[in-house]
Amino acid sequence: MTTDQSPILVWFRNDLRLADNPALSAAAEDGAPVIPVYVREKDAHDPWLPGAASRWWLHGSLERLGKALAKLGSPLVLRSGDPAAVLAALAEETGADTLLCNRRAGPTAIARDRRVVERLSVRGVTVHPHNAALLFEPGTIRTKSDTPFRVFTPFWKALLSMPEPPRPTRAPAKLTPPAKPVSSESLKDWALLPSAPDWAGGLRERWEPGEAAARERLADFLDGPVAAYPVERDRPDHDGTSAMSPHLAFGEIGPRQIWHATRHAADQRHELAAGAGAFLRELGWREFNHHLLREEPSIPDTPLDARFTRFPWRTDKAGLRAWQRGRTGYPIVDAGMRQLWQTGWMHNRVRMIVGSFLIKDLLIPWREGEAWFWDTLVDADIANNAGNWQWVAGCGADAAPFFRVFNPILQGEKFDPEGAYVRRYVPELERLPNRWIHKPWEAPDEALRQAGVTLGKDYPRPIVDHGTARDRALAAFNEIKKAG
Ligand code: FAD
Repeated sequence: MTTDQSPILVWFRNDLRLADNPALSAAAEDGAPVIPVYVREKDAHDPWLPGAASRWWLHGSLERLGKALAKLGSPLVLRSGDPAAVLAALAEETGADTLLCNRRAGPTAIARDRRVVERLSVRGVTVHPHNAALLFEPGTIRTKSDTPFRVFTPFWKALLSMPEPPRPTRAPAKLTPPAKPVSSESLKDWALLPSAPDWAGGLRERWEPGEAAARERLADFLDGPVAAYPVERDRPDHDGTSAMSPHLAFGEIGPRQIWHATRHAADQRHELAAGAGAFLRELGWREFNHHLLREEPSIPDTPLDARFTRFPWRTDKAGLRAWQRGRTGYPIVDAGMRQLWQTGWMHNRVRMIVGSFLIKDLLIPWREGEAWFWDTLVDADIANNAGNWQWVAGCGADAAPFFRVFNPILQGEKFDPEGAYVRRYVPELERLPNRWIHKPWEAPDEALRQAGVTLGKDYPRPIVDHGTARDRALAAFNEIKKAG
């Protein structure tokens, strides 16, 4: 099909899917030629460009999206640089008069998007942003006095009282290609995949990026495991959660698709209802964090509770490194950090435990943890990461109080009762009896000997004593409380 219409640029970002993609649907419905484009942004001063694990995922996601778009008729164009300059040049080159995209989160991204609108408007190109990433637009769920919610439960009730989120749309059946092919950089040349060393073996084993894999994973989860979600979601030793987070972070699936698919599954099979409700509530936390970030764009850097700007944090390079490498001597903490290193993902319960350990046992600033997670998580999401780190630190919205310090031994015994999770990621403790698996330093010499463990050699002794560290943390908190 040919047309005289000016082409439409569809700028893909964290919405790497064809279905329920409002920007792409609008472009397809228009009938004009569509030029899908992804811009690899470069800005040495932006700490929120994709981290190493995200870059690995991005490669796989763009590869699959590129194939799917080519099948529809319009191949994906890859370009690098400052989006305002790149998109303005592309509009000039192709004669495009419209740019469609879906909004994204984060202060640096929003500032860059504003510059895109300014630069393109000057050239007579109209920019239309849509909502693909959230159930509802930020700003549409507010308290009765028209302020943003700072507490989750009333936010969630308000969300549930809204009309159902819009139904997801199908992928377009075809796209009109531009009259002349548009040149593209090569994905391979972007070198998003690690090499020398290639540390991504564990990621490849665990994950398959892309829209099709996202849909399949959701279908598998809703086929049964969702029923047990309320109990299983706290067990890192079981696969009881959906693992949708990286797919959501890259927009390979949208929350409205998950919402309606989950509701539908629960309508069909009533035994799924409680699990489906609990699962959607977690999606509500994602929504809460994203709405909060739009209202409070500084949360990735600045504690919401201003008292915490005076918190007497410690500088402890050795402690930070031991935490990052999973060598703290606390098995549940080390298992979590190694799961993250090996697979690019960590179970939510364990994220809370390792977060509490970094902040409260080591008194290392939460922003160090946030930065490490940003680089190593395949589901790194600026709103969820910042919101949750502030939650663990006790300085965020509806946060756990600072004085609630997770005990890594009791948490391990409660949520990994047989030590299966620890044994999986800390194999040097594999033969230690259950009784000592979460506290090897208390094991009698004979038990250690039989398990083949020499503490300080095969596995570290605890780098801090939890009881002493807890007292130190509470004393530090009292200092900022007193100062008011
Ligand atoms: P499920 O339990 O199946 O939940 C379904 C979806 O609900 C998730 O995919 C996610 O989108 C959302 N969700 C679940 N728990 C939370 C939560 N606590 N807060 C917000 N949304 C939630 N999640 C990220 O997506 N990206 C991050 O960068 C991130 N950083 C975190 C940092 C810390 C310190 C902590 C404690 C949590 C963080 N989380 C983050 C939240 C949570 O751990 C993950 O979303 C969850 O483990 C993903 O696994 P899942 O998809 O199997 O979750």
